[in-house]
Amino acid sequence: MDLSLSELERYKTQMLISGWNVEGQKKLKAASVAVAGVGGLGCPASIYLTTVGVGRVLLIDNEKFELNNLNRQILGWQEDVGKFKVEVAREKLKALNPEIRVEAIVAEITRDNVHDVIGDVDVVVDGQDNWRTRFIVNEYCVTSNIPFIHAGVSSLHGQMTTIVPGEGPCLRCVFPKDPPEHREIPVLGATPALFASLQVMETVKLVTGIGRLLVGRMLFVNGEEMVFETVEVKRNTKCPVCSSPQINANTSN
Ligand SMILES: [Zn+2]
Repeated sequence: MDLSLSELERYKTQMLISGWNVEGQKKLKAASVAVAGVGGLGCPASIYLTTVGVGRVLLIDNEKFELNNLNRQILGWQEDVGKFKVEVAREKLKALNPEIRVEAIVAEITRDNVHDVIGDVDVVVDGQDNWRTRFIVNEYCVTSNIPFIHAGVSSLHGQMTTIVPGEGPCLRCVFPKDPPEHREIPVLGATPALFASLQVMETVKLVTGIGRLLVGRMLFVNGEEMVFETVEVKRNTKCPVCSSPQINANTSN
């Protein structure tokens, strides 16, 4: 997959990063990344996935922009209130970088449709605001051997980890019991923006092979105290999601 002259120009500055080069950019062009949920995390994540040159960005969300989303869901502008988030996002992202493919699916991810909706991608970025859907996506990613970059935010706080099936714990290893769901989560827009940036960094590292991933580690950020902490997280050998014989067989190859 060659790069055009305009792509070489567009991505010139990032290709200077050590270990990236034209080869890394070609890998990004060949990559397909799903953004599961186009809200506070998914909007900035999809913007940076678009500008970095991921070849195919798949946006999945079933909601329309509401006025109270606009403090953080930065692809939604005043005129977009009442429109489907993924359709608004697709148009803006295509205008931002016409070299890539942006696809939009209006759907709520469920256990029944997750296979069809996400399908065959290289990475899934967690843009969910509820644990029920996160665990569905986690299970799909583990069984399909797709890396899943989890992030969750609240207020000025958040956590994230990168799940690479077979290489480290999955989300269920880390959270054996469902954390409590909140209907309305307090959020400062800058918090998901921070985590979305980190999710894109992990995506780029996964695809290009540069750096050390956040696998087996959970990053916690406390923005009130401005403390960043990384804690080791381990795989649960009895995890109902990632310890099945099928998964172990896949990862021994
Ligand atoms: Zn697990």
